[in-house]
Amino acid sequence: MNGWETIIGLEVHAQLSTESKIFCGCSTRFGDEPNSNTCPVCLGLPGALPVLNRRVVELGARAALALGLHINERSIFARKNYFYPDLPKGYQISQYDQPFSADGTLEIMTAQRDEAGHAHEWRPLTVRITRLHLEEDAGKNVHEGLPDVDRFSYVDLNRAGTPLAEIVTEPDFRSSWEAYDYVNHVRRALQWVGASEADMEKGNLRCEANVSVRRRGDTKFGTKVELKNLNSVRFMQRAIEFEVRRHIETLESGGRLVQETRLWDERAAETRPMRSKEEAHDYRYFPEPDLPPLVVTNEFVDQIRTSLPELPDARRKRFIEQYDLSFADASQLTAERSLADYYENAVEASEGNARATANWIRSELLRELEHADVTADKCPIPATELGALVRMIDEGKISGKQGKDVLIEMFATGKAATTVVEERGLVQVSDTAEIDRMIDEVIAGNPQQLEQYCSGKETLFGFFVGQVMKASKGKANPKVVNERLRAKLKR
Ligand SMILES: [Zn+2]
Repeated sequence: MNGWETIIGLEVHAQLSTESKIFCGCSTRFGDEPNSNTCPVCLGLPGALPVLNRRVVELGARAALALGLHINERSIFARKNYFYPDLPKGYQISQYDQPFSADGTLEIMTAQRDEAGHAHEWRPLTVRITRLHLEEDAGKNVHEGLPDVDRFSYVDLNRAGTPLAEIVTEPDFRSSWEAYDYVNHVRRALQWVGASEADMEKGNLRCEANVSVRRRGDTKFGTKVELKNLNSVRFMQRAIEFEVRRHIETLESGGRLVQETRLWDERAAETRPMRSKEEAHDYRYFPEPDLPPLVVTNEFVDQIRTSLPELPDARRKRFIEQYDLSFADASQLTAERSLADYYENAVEASEGNARATANWIRSELLRELEHADVTADKCPIPATELGALVRMIDEGKISGKQGKDVLIEMFATGKAATTVVEERGLVQVSDTAEIDRMIDEVIAGNPQQLEQYCSGKETLFGFFVGQVMKASKGKANPKVVNERLRAKLKR
């Protein structure tokens, strides 16, 4: 790929977490009987009039502010005209030349990846946000899982009129990983402020990538392709990689690319052409005559702003400073708001052992959460109990190795740390008098090894530690055993 530059722009559609649709009172609940959540407005019946849902504006504002974007005082809804069976009106109500937010910049962190996809060398990347606008979603065409699907397609309009925020960037990404880090940034920001569930697998965050390549040094853009059907951030990254390679191979072998929309097929690990791309003028946008301009006052924006929680980047920064964490640790712990909350509660319960708490969460707890497929707020171990466990290890009551087993049992049973430790009879012996007594016995019982040790065979130190641990049935605090043994053998 030497000598080529990759250019990527992204469009993200996020479903805003409202209970009712954007222009009518129908429920947005997922999984209901097909076409049950519909009314004359979202069915597009003649004469029905849309009324803007105030909650959409609130959540749209939360989304914009979470991304550091400015909100326009006045924005205009517009009709985007096209025909499709899942769009009964024949147009989608969106925003066009006066969107909710425009011309913003967003700073994200991005990293290089090694072969296995592990991130290293994080650095900031400034992304220009062309626009964030509000619009309604279309319905859904169903082509499988119903009777006679070889002859019929079905239309479910429950989703028609669900509110979306569409976020469009300038072509500012130069690699698939930059795009990957951006989408994750946006996803986390929207979840963080409660604007959207932003779950790509559930389809409430959808992403499209515009990809092209050009020879390094060229200023003109190459032919761009739009990628769709990207059902996870990782799929998107892979689809972009595939497409970049396809472009370069085509151009290097003297071929030509066409501007088109392509779908990612995860199973085949390739993209396939879907249709040639429409231009904006094909949609015949014009202002929606049934809706007045949307006016958002400064007071409204200030109100939303003050209701926002501490935002992810600010919290990460604070974690680094307050808890003395590395950038990578702090990033991982602020990947989700519930995890960041969990961490801070656990630190408090551990009586301030921030580093150890971070390590236990990152190395042990996250693995368990991942296996069980639950988020930190549903963790069977309350944060206070994790903190209690960290404190017990810190105080030498149990060893770190024992701590791992205790954590696994706590996770499986929901029992308190002290209960598990007592039930397993794990309490570590740190009482120096008792340990001294065991050391004396071991030394007295192994005169030969003692002699060898005293004559310089220092590797036998480990033998004595092992014997004392054995005598204590593994319950002696190894740190104390080491200290006392060293002191005794010196004499
Ligand atoms: Zn409706």
